[in-house]
Amino acid sequence: MDRRRRRLGMDVPIDRRDFLNGAAMSAAAVSAMMLADPTIAAPQPGPQDKPGYYPPTLNGIRGSQPGSFDVAHSVRDGTFWSTAEKMHDTDGVYDLVVVGAGISGLSAAFFYRAAKPNAKILILDNHDDFGGHARRNEYHLNGRLELLNGGTELIDSPRPYSAVASGLLKTLGIEPAKLAKACDRPEVYDGLGPASFFDKETFGVDRLVVGGSTREGETVDWNAFISKTPLSPKAKADMLRIEAGMEDYFPGLTSDQKKDKLSRMSYFDYLSKVVKADPKTVAFYQQITHDEWGVGIDAEPALDCWGFGLPGFSGLKLDPRSIKRMGNTAAGYNENSFETFHFPDGNASIARLLVRALVPKAMPGHTVEDVVTAIANYNELDRDGAPVRIRVSSTVVGVRNIGSPKASKGIELAYARGGHVWRVHAANCILASWNMMIPYLCSDMPDAQKAALHELVKIPLVYTSVAIRNWRAFKKLGVQYIYAPSGYYSSCRLNWAVDIGGYKSVRSPDDPMLLFMVRTPCQPGLSEKDQHRAGRAELLATTFADFEHATRDQLGRMLKDGGFDPRRDITAITINRWGHGYAYEYNPLFDDFDLPPEKQPHVIGRQRWGRIAIANSDSGAAAYTDSAIDQARRAVDEILALKA
Ligand SMILES: Cc1cc2nc3c(=O)[nH]c(=O)nc-3n(C[C@H](O)[C@H](O)[C@H](O)COP(=O)(O)OP(=O)(O)OC[C@H]3O[C@@H](n4cnc5c(N)ncnc54)[C@H](O)[C@@H]3O)c2cc1C
Repeated sequence: MDRRRRRLGMDVPIDRRDFLNGAAMSAAAVSAMMLADPTIAAPQPGPQDKPGYYPPTLNGIRGSQPGSFDVAHSVRDGTFWSTAEKMHDTDGVYDLVVVGAGISGLSAAFFYRAAKPNAKILILDNHDDFGGHARRNEYHLNGRLELLNGGTELIDSPRPYSAVASGLLKTLGIEPAKLAKACDRPEVYDGLGPASFFDKETFGVDRLVVGGSTREGETVDWNAFISKTPLSPKAKADMLRIEAGMEDYFPGLTSDQKKDKLSRMSYFDYLSKVVKADPKTVAFYQQITHDEWGVGIDAEPALDCWGFGLPGFSGLKLDPRSIKRMGNTAAGYNENSFETFHFPDGNASIARLLVRALVPKAMPGHTVEDVVTAIANYNELDRDGAPVRIRVSSTVVGVRNIGSPKASKGIELAYARGGHVWRVHAANCILASWNMMIPYLCSDMPDAQKAALHELVKIPLVYTSVAIRNWRAFKKLGVQYIYAPSGYYSSCRLNWAVDIGGYKSVRSPDDPMLLFMVRTPCQPGLSEKDQHRAGRAELLATTFADFEHATRDQLGRMLKDGGFDPRRDITAITINRWGHGYAYEYNPLFDDFDLPPEKQPHVIGRQRWGRIAIANSDSGAAAYTDSAIDQARRAVDEILALKA
């Protein structure tokens, strides 16, 4: 190991690898195991049934952990069935099988049980934990429980939650505004603000500049911030024009004409060609859209960036209303204010409350506050005879109607688990799983529907949780959040300060805590979807050691002046890798905004197929929890409308 890697601490024994899940099982291994044991006739207990099974505390690569997608990829590649042996029958017939134990799948089970209290429901998910993207990272730092979201971060949406979605939250005891008032502790970070990290590869020198902001409308001393940046005098003047200028770059056009123009050009082109900013100034904004959209400013329309509150538009004096040619996120945030709340483990708490409602013994406690510290009993999730069973580590590989879809008598579903393929029968099925995989599961679906489902390309993201010995460096620098315009991670921040029930967030900078870092891999210059595809390929090729090295390197460089030493100060790393992350939202630069709703891919794709209905946030074309819930309601209603 070279000196630089050693200095970063790459040889230091930290909590980083998860050997259990690090051993990915290939499709070939799956089929070999199946052939080795053709006699099994009922599902074997899975890992979740072993005492002590508790995935939230695992480190290493989480999210879509190694081994969780190999079967799905072999189904996609057409190699699964050629090697799979005859299916085994399993233990019974269900009223409903739900594929996907994310918020949509769990909500679907909840809604169905509310309508049919005696229903027998099986929920299957390929991951080793429930919650889908709404995943919990649980740490015990010096004996104190510290939580972070491994995916879905908070209750927050560009539009107010529907009556269905807010009704479900209320039933679960969640009132976001009330909780935020009672639990948020922003004062813990009093005196700490935002900063930006200019790296030497792009800006010629490594420099953390404290101050600034990423949003319009905040009172910021831009002169003070800009004067400390390593930019040239021209680039500095251009940044000041963007942040605080009042120039109208489209004189003579009406507000509507300006908006139309802005909806047809990227923010990159707006800053480069219209504002005519220095290339280094434009480079400063390149990753400012990453957290929200998973791509840089080259693939985001200037108008959406205006709607989202990014700078450079004040002098245009645009009418504040959104227009049709705006993406869902920008249009919604531009027009609405909303209630938000961040549970310490993000929306994993919503998933855990749903699990409590469905399988009470699996999630001890009774209140919205105590669910945060509850220790889930995974052994209870899939009990014989229980009305609702949640089975993880189970990849669904095929679903079909029994009889023709129009006169379907029920469904037959196959899933792979522990090296075997199992068959389940049910009256109905809800696919609350990633929609782009459905064509591979339902091979007899109409081609037009399959083509539409293939369009729903998900956005890859990495959320990294880093345990650090203390946060004195942040305190010394006066920093809570860092934006890195050209960093491997586009942002990094101290964990949320939230106290809820028995959970108390960190207080003293001398105490250990978790950092939250975001990377959304993409390839500027391609179409948005191709950028996501390229980013996903990159994620698959990135090893834990690569992630760890990048994490240590960036933190060391950003926090150097605060005295941070990655070798000494990093005690654990969890990489939450979501190759298939946010649902795709249409982008005016690449998608046809004149299509009527019934011709939009997510609407064509989500049509019920016999007794198989389709949910998931994908089917709402909106990467938000309320979409996951609303689509679950719609799918359940479609099933309930069928004759028994
Ligand atoms: C990193 C990240 C951060 C986010 N932050 C926010 C946020 O702050 N607020 C917000 O509202 N939304 C956020 N989202 C959006 C999030 O996707 C939704 O809020 C919601 O959690 C999606 O729920 P879902 O059930 O529709 O999908 P998912 O959570 O993706 O659940 C679907 C499940 O189906 C499983 N599945 C797929 N195929 C199969 C198969 N063949 N067999 C078995 N199982 C299968 C998947 O593996 C997955 O576990 C975030 C998403 C990501 C990735």
